[in-house]
Amino acid sequence: MLTSEIIAIGSELLTPFHTDTNSLWLTEKLNSVGIDVKLKTIVGDDEARLEEVLKDALQRSQVIISTGGLGPTEDDITRKVFSRVLKRPLILHEDILANIRHLFESRGFPMALNNERQALILQNAQVLNNPRGTAPGMFIIDSDKRIVMLPGPPREMKPMFEEQVLPNLQKLSHGLRVKRKVLKVSGMGESAVDALIAPIYSKYKNPTTTILFNRTEVQIHLTASGSTDKEVERLLEELSNKLEEKLGANVFSVQGESLEEIVGRWLAVKQFTIATAESCTGGLIATRLTDIAGSSRYFLQGLVTYSSQAKIDLLGVSADLIEEKGVVSAEVAEAMAIGVKKKSGATFGVSVTGLAGPDGGTPEKPVGLVYIGLASDVEVTHKKLQLPGDRERVRWLASTVALDLVRRRYLL
Ligand code: AMP
Ligand code: MG
Repeated sequence: MLTSEIIAIGSELLTPFHTDTNSLWLTEKLNSVGIDVKLKTIVGDDEARLEEVLKDALQRSQVIISTGGLGPTEDDITRKVFSRVLKRPLILHEDILANIRHLFESRGFPMALNNERQALILQNAQVLNNPRGTAPGMFIIDSDKRIVMLPGPPREMKPMFEEQVLPNLQKLSHGLRVKRKVLKVSGMGESAVDALIAPIYSKYKNPTTTILFNRTEVQIHLTASGSTDKEVERLLEELSNKLEEKLGANVFSVQGESLEEIVGRWLAVKQFTIATAESCTGGLIATRLTDIAGSSRYFLQGLVTYSSQAKIDLLGVSADLIEEKGVVSAEVAEAMAIGVKKKSGATFGVSVTGLAGPDGGTPEKPVGLVYIGLASDVEVTHKKLQLPGDRERVRWLASTVALDLVRRRYLL
């Protein structure tokens, strides 16, 4: 495999306020054409440091991709430093300058003098046009190295890379194809998943398997490489089928979809509708369901009934029941689910009542105690959970279990 590295340039990326997202996107694209990313560096707008990083990169990587620092201001040093290290002078391209000038005039501004800098191109570099901004990128072949300089703004960088760089790199990697498949698992921890499937995946070198935990779900990432798409897909299918068979209904997604996407898809297919009554999740289940385009086909309404009075007034939960069993109880969760189903006319009513913390726990009802209620035409059920973690984690886990309960009981 060809090896590459990414250099993200920009002092803002070294503050807590900006994340280098360009390299995440680039890594996925490079992997897809069989190029391995061995290293990423984030470097501020600092000439000496960038010079060091670039020199090191040229020692160890065949493909070097930088983003950022191509703007018109004094702190945009990428051109200058690359020119010095690669020993290629900067040459003013009149046609690029004319383009930039034209762009400014069409927006009704005169071009500031420092924008001229953006028309400076390293000698013998291929110019990468930037229809969405002013700074062109550059593609340089230097003996056996490929050096690509891209602008920082993602909306300019992505199409430039995809349209003008990726096809070139793909040829370079001799058509090696790499694809990933992600299986998502609910209701099991990372180590339980691993214990179950390690005997299967450890027999395979290609695809490689990694297991990771992401907020509320375990993900199994399979990465396969081969000389054709077909071959790679066959390799992925073979292993994925075996893993799916072993994990059964715990696997909820095999194409990267989220749980809410899967639940929504099946609700739509089966022509079911759903309504939610949430307490400690504060509308998170409704938010997750309605994050999905087209959710109006199956999502009818979501109530955030936070106080006991709201549960009484809006859901018809009896005050005596709350008094007798406590607001965080199986009985109240079920009454909430029945209430919202009745009010909305949905196929399913889903409810949550619990203690997200950090305060309000007692020895009998500790923080993390959550009841999920689920009402359909034929039954009313509940699930009791004792969830770990802080407020954020409890809320996310509770919303996931609620969605997963619907999936497992009615959508399989
Ligand atoms: P520059 O090309 O250095 O002028 O970058 C302009 C803008 O692009 C920055 O202010 C950021 O908002 C964005 N940007 C630069 N580098 C990155 C990166 N690695 N990831 C995400 N956004 C970036
Ligand atoms: Mg910058």
